[in-house]
Amino acid sequence: MNIKQRKILVLSISILLLAICIVGVIVNHFFTKQDKEEIFKYGYKKTTADKASKDGISIKEDFLTVNSFSRPGTPLKVINNIVVHYVANPGSSAQDNRNYFNGLATTGQTYASSHYVIGIEGEIIQCIPLNEIAYCSNNRNDDTISIEVCHPDEDGKFTKDSYDSLVKLCAWLCDAYELEAEDIIRHYDVTGKICPKYFVDNPDAWKKFKKDVKNSHL
Ligand SMILES: [Zn+2]
Repeated sequence: MNIKQRKILVLSISILLLAICIVGVIVNHFFTKQDKEEIFKYGYKKTTADKASKDGISIKEDFLTVNSFSRPGTPLKVINNIVVHYVANPGSSAQDNRNYFNGLATTGQTYASSHYVIGIEGEIIQCIPLNEIAYCSNNRNDDTISIEVCHPDEDGKFTKDSYDSLVKLCAWLCDAYELEAEDIIRHYDVTGKICPKYFVDNPDAWKKFKKDVKNSHL
């Protein structure tokens, strides 16, 4: 191989490597962009019950029928916070609360719903897809995911099973939507309402909860 041939060979390899790099950057950019667009277009792409079960969380999808009182079908375009609530109905189950929301379609009693309800035994029911708003957190319905938690007594303290499910679900949602534990807020932080009661009455328990989410490894 003479010098000229060697130069051509080196040049060819350089061009080939450069081309590979350029293709890599373009492909990476395309997929990242598509991923982000799909999260907001389809909302729950990363957070379907199927995906959850693969990540070790059991979620029952039992979506409400679309209706103006509890599932308006309004797109949820951005998710900035996760809002935690308590159901304020001691002893009621996750299914009871989900059915109550669904029943509002016919009773028209009030406007209320939430994306998830966690039961006393730690069961999780999803009532609304994450690309739609729920009627749960007042003026923050349009940029938050809401979680209602059941409780056995008036003091609103969650059972260990409910608490564990809440920690897991929040950690999983933070991961899916690139949020921090500090982005989890109480209904109280939105309107001053005593909700979730136990975490308003016991600010240290609330701090510990966020710490538990941070330290949770799925
Ligand atoms: Zn609330």
